[in-house]
Amino acid sequence: MTQVAEPEIERSSPRGETVSHWIGGQRVAGTSGRRGPVFDPATGVLAREVDFASVEEVDAAIAAAKAAFPAWRATSLSKRTDILFRIRNLVDAHRKDIAAFLTAEHGKVPSDALGEVARGLENLEFATGIPNLLKGGFSEQVSTGIDVYQIRQPLGVAAGITPFNFPAMVPMWMFGNAIACGNTFVLKPSEKDPSASLFLAELLREAGVPDGVFNVVQGDKVAVDRILGHPDIAAVSFVGSTPIARYIYETGTRHGKRVQALGGAKNHMVVLPDADIEMAADAAVSAGYGSSGERCMAIATIVAVGSVADPLVEAIARRLPKVKVGPGSDPEAEMGPLVTKQHRDKVASYLESAPAQGATVVADGREHPLYGGSAGFFLGASLIDHVTPAMDAYRDEIFGPVLTVARVETYEEALRLVNDNPYGNGTAIFTRDGGAARQYQFDVNVGMVGINVPIPVPVSYYSFGGWKSSLFGDLHMYGPEGIQFYTRAKVVTSRWPDPGTSKVDLGFPRTR
Ligand code: NAD
Repeated sequence: MTQVAEPEIERSSPRGETVSHWIGGQRVAGTSGRRGPVFDPATGVLAREVDFASVEEVDAAIAAAKAAFPAWRATSLSKRTDILFRIRNLVDAHRKDIAAFLTAEHGKVPSDALGEVARGLENLEFATGIPNLLKGGFSEQVSTGIDVYQIRQPLGVAAGITPFNFPAMVPMWMFGNAIACGNTFVLKPSEKDPSASLFLAELLREAGVPDGVFNVVQGDKVAVDRILGHPDIAAVSFVGSTPIARYIYETGTRHGKRVQALGGAKNHMVVLPDADIEMAADAAVSAGYGSSGERCMAIATIVAVGSVADPLVEAIARRLPKVKVGPGSDPEAEMGPLVTKQHRDKVASYLESAPAQGATVVADGREHPLYGGSAGFFLGASLIDHVTPAMDAYRDEIFGPVLTVARVETYEEALRLVNDNPYGNGTAIFTRDGGAARQYQFDVNVGMVGINVPIPVPVSYYSFGGWKSSLFGDLHMYGPEGIQFYTRAKVVTSRWPDPGTSKVDLGFPRTR
């Protein structure tokens, strides 16, 4: 089991110290007088507070980003690449320090936190390829003596608004590509676990990112609404829950901004009767309870087809007592607490409502000793069988360690269930039949599909995005579509005529 370093968090955001903003290359203490609590979810202790930005503070961050833009976009590609390599190397060198922030404020255990940093790092590595990624196209002699070429240019100031469940990775999905393309950036992290954002800001400064190119404003709806309405913000990337994603998309686009807003999920894992049951059960437990189910790509519902249901539920249930729940400080712990008490209690409430609505609770996480015996926000691994689309436990995104099982008789019924669901982030199919898997890939209305892979998060050189209510906007996050999102095309038509060869011609320009 991997150990994390001494918590860097105590150096960067000591207990009791308020987490502040990062504007123009330095920490800036909040002046709004508004603050929020930041808990240690493993102990339930109020660890520190975070400043909530006022409109004026957001304006200051956007002004710093706007002022830095002309010089940054004029910085050569090779210089930008050099800085991106240095950011990549610093994040790599500080993996354990970043992971310690995640464990301290999100609660995820060190192995999971290090996985988050590794997947974020991939995106910074992708961004180091920016000279290649920004290559345009050139068409010579489209008409006599005339050439046409396309270049991609940055947008200006881009903003990122990020969720609590990936406080380091999701910002890295965004800012690497954004600044590599020549934009400047304002990050508004989740107020629940804000400290990693400031540590990343320090690393960027150390890497040579000029002041004002990367800024952080902490806060709530006040900060978000100012970003959405500010005339100097060109583009907004958002990741969070569906109602807020829809709001961000509608409000941002109404103000003329380019917006990509990734929302919530309800990911189904279809298990066909021919699947390897032990392998499917391992995958269901890993993907259902990893990070305490607080992943947008977590498996939420197992769709058990035909005769597979009984042995599969039995195989999953058999594994649950072995899932080690505990604080990140325990090297044996595989599943940490939930992010807040309020969220833990909401998640636990489905263990009441589901049986009341006709489902069967196979494993009740409230029976875990840490649920009642600790001030931390723990809940044990829970399993609910016989859920139907009419039940809250099926309809809602629970976002906790509660795996549900829906039983169907046929592949067609399974497909209908998945396609009728309003979310379309990720899905997986478990089978030994290549033809059935290929058919599912063809049929399913979901943006990311795993074939015998339960969490199909694309590698950084593909892009990440769901369909339906899991994404509002046209372009997916990071990878090639991220580069498209953070740039706009300019097409140049050029002629270098010899003197004396021009004439007046009022006709519409023709190539032939
Ligand atoms: P959230 O929507 O509550 O918050 C996300 C961000 O929006 C935060 O920065 C928050 O401060 C801000 N926000 C919250 N309420 C707001 C409001 N009323 N007005 C303006 N801004 C507001 O999400 P969360 O609880 O932090 O994160 C969990 C959610 O994110 C889950 O639904 C999960 O599925 C989703 N998620 C999706 C993806 C994806 O890629 N599709 C990835 C990670 C998380």
